[in-house]
Amino acid sequence: MSSLMSIKNMSVNFDTPGGSLEAVRGVDIEIPAGMSVGVVGESGSGKTVMCRAAMGLLQGSTVNRTGTVIFDGHELTAMSKEQVRELFGSGMAMIFQDPLTALNPVRRIGAQLSEGLRIRLGMSKSDAMARSKELLELVRIPNAAAVLKSFPYQLSGGMRQRVMIAIAIACNPKLLFADEPTTALDVTVQAQILQLLRELREDLNMSMVLVTHDLGVVAGNTDYVAVMYAGEVVEYAPTKKLFADMRMPYTEALLDSIPRVDHKSGTRLSVIAGRLPDPTHRPAGCGFAPRCKYAQDKCTTDHPELKTDPDGHVYRCWFPIGEAL
Ligand code: SF4
Repeated sequence: MSSLMSIKNMSVNFDTPGGSLEAVRGVDIEIPAGMSVGVVGESGSGKTVMCRAAMGLLQGSTVNRTGTVIFDGHELTAMSKEQVRELFGSGMAMIFQDPLTALNPVRRIGAQLSEGLRIRLGMSKSDAMARSKELLELVRIPNAAAVLKSFPYQLSGGMRQRVMIAIAIACNPKLLFADEPTTALDVTVQAQILQLLRELREDLNMSMVLVTHDLGVVAGNTDYVAVMYAGEVVEYAPTKKLFADMRMPYTEALLDSIPRVDHKSGTRLSVIAGRLPDPTHRPAGCGFAPRCKYAQDKCTTDHPELKTDPDGHVYRCWFPIGEAL
């Protein structure tokens, strides 16, 4: 299986008045061509920073990114800002949590959708508008001709997210990053948007990185899952394998915190007590130790190494689930 994006030993630090803030630490992730990878973790776990850094979207004198990112044969980390920017649209694209802030409120949908087609693909105004209508139909928007003339505020949240998806796929990207694309939507619309993304990914043979805090969202919507905690990938496995045989206590705690159909009615959901460690003062041992029901003395003194099972299942724990103490 060929890799479309390969992230190797990537770390991201921010200079802050309180000292260096390590948001991402030594991340390795492979995104296979044509497959989807879920990146899961609590708010503040580093998943969005990791994705933005991988795409070259984090810039500025206070950001320090190290490691390498190879995308479709290009080493992004060795390219200039302008060269990386040229890969946007046809190479990589991104959709965000809140389409209302990502869309320009005073421009009609047709103008916003056709702009990328004219700039990146050199289409004429009329061709770009005709293609824009096709794209709205591709993302299952009814009455596409009327929507082209609408302003964002005239559409529902679900329709706006469909428009954002149409903009993202307009130039046939090979890799789509979707950052919490359904968090702002109600449950029924969430399911529709996830189904749309799944169908588009298969029809257009795109790879996708689905960033979410909800482990339930990656089940059935991704081929692989990377679980992030305190800036590190702590577990990585094919999605089915992860759910059948999870090794990390943190992944288990995330799973216990989501509603499931096999929970008896009236069962209370667990919350993960405690907080993520302070990224400016990392503990010596495992960052999850104060919150982990399996923690032993070693967990508070020694940082766990990454282990890989013979089947490729990766985890970072001294006492993984399923191994007798
Ligand atoms: S290393 Fe220890 S504290 Fe960390 S997840 Fe594993 S058992 Fe829990």
